[in-house]
Amino acid sequence: MVKDLLIIGSGPTGLYAWKFANNLSLSGTIIEANYEVGGQANLAYPEKTIHNLPGISEIKAKDFVRNMLDDANNDNSKIELKTNTSVVEVIKVKTPDDFKFHFLVKFSDHCQATYKSILVCEGLGQYQSIRLVDDDWENIHYVVKNKEDFNNKKVVIFGGGDSAIDWAKNLSPNANVTLIHRREEFRGPIDSIKDDVEILTPFEFKEIRKTDGKKVKSIVVANNGLEKEVKFDECLVQFGAVIKPHPLKGLNLDRNDLNKIIVDLEMSTSVPGVFAAGDAVIYPTKKRNLIFGFQEAVTALSKIEMMINHKKIANKGW
Ligand SMILES: Cc1cc2nc3c(=O)[nH]c(=O)nc-3n(C[C@H](O)[C@H](O)[C@H](O)COP(=O)(O)OP(=O)(O)OC[C@H]3O[C@@H](n4cnc5c(N)ncnc54)[C@H](O)[C@@H]3O)c2cc1C
Repeated sequence: MVKDLLIIGSGPTGLYAWKFANNLSLSGTIIEANYEVGGQANLAYPEKTIHNLPGISEIKAKDFVRNMLDDANNDNSKIELKTNTSVVEVIKVKTPDDFKFHFLVKFSDHCQATYKSILVCEGLGQYQSIRLVDDDWENIHYVVKNKEDFNNKKVVIFGGGDSAIDWAKNLSPNANVTLIHRREEFRGPIDSIKDDVEILTPFEFKEIRKTDGKKVKSIVVANNGLEKEVKFDECLVQFGAVIKPHPLKGLNLDRNDLNKIIVDLEMSTSVPGVFAAGDAVIYPTKKRNLIFGFQEAVTALSKIEMMINHKKIANKGW
């Protein structure tokens, strides 16, 4: 069976597109390359307070993402969410109707399905924190999901930039914080925390020493042959992030030098039936924020609804 819509990416733009597509009774799939939804808002700044949303004076990014997911993922939705999934290949299939193509999409989970339209909400790509170790441990964190989880704990923070210093400052009133950096110099205002935080420089992570179940109890840091065992309850790694692109093989969308998808004012891409919205796109008046992404998703979906239902005007605005 041919489904109406594939949404690629479940950042804020993809989540809102999902909700609006539900209102239009569209069927399909939303995929997310990461293990969880929310894009930058969830992985880059979950604890930040957002102030620029209409009708909401302030809300934490992680709460906003959770609300958006709850809104979209309801029992009446005909759209299925697949996390940890990306596109392996898109094959264009010619059709006799208004659409020039349907799209047979092969996914990384070895499933495949055919769609009448695609909405690309890939944002900046898959946002991945730079890791301390390859394995997952319960008490080695790359993002602070709940500040309170660090209260009254022995906390080790790795990093020398603004975010490492910010978190050292933020957590130190309620936790015993040690900041570890591989250089003497920091790339942020270290003087502001010197009295409240133990600072270990220039020390680099060498290895995990003791573990207990899924938790690390101590690590070894090293400096020119000098080694030191550091015990902790929680470890926060702030080495920054890398963006992993996921090329959409088979689609060949027109993009600019920065890999942004070029769209017109209906959010149509260079491939008929494929639309894009959010941080992924570029057009003359584009701004990269939440509201622009939502508006672009609505614009694209209005056009998609008109195409699928053979309408001349989009007449339902909510
Ligand atoms: C530190 C920071 C603070 C910010 N603060 C604000 C603010 O206060 N207010 C505001 O309006 N904006 C803010 N922004 C900007 C806002 O977060 C972005 O505009 C918004 O996240 C864009 O949403 P998006 O869904 O288009 O892209 P993203 O958030 O980048 O999400 C894209 C999603 O698609 C997934 N993906 C990518 N490629 C694929 C693929 N091929 N297959 C499957 N999944 C894929 C990614 O894993 C990701 O989850 C901030 C940004 C940052 C970095």
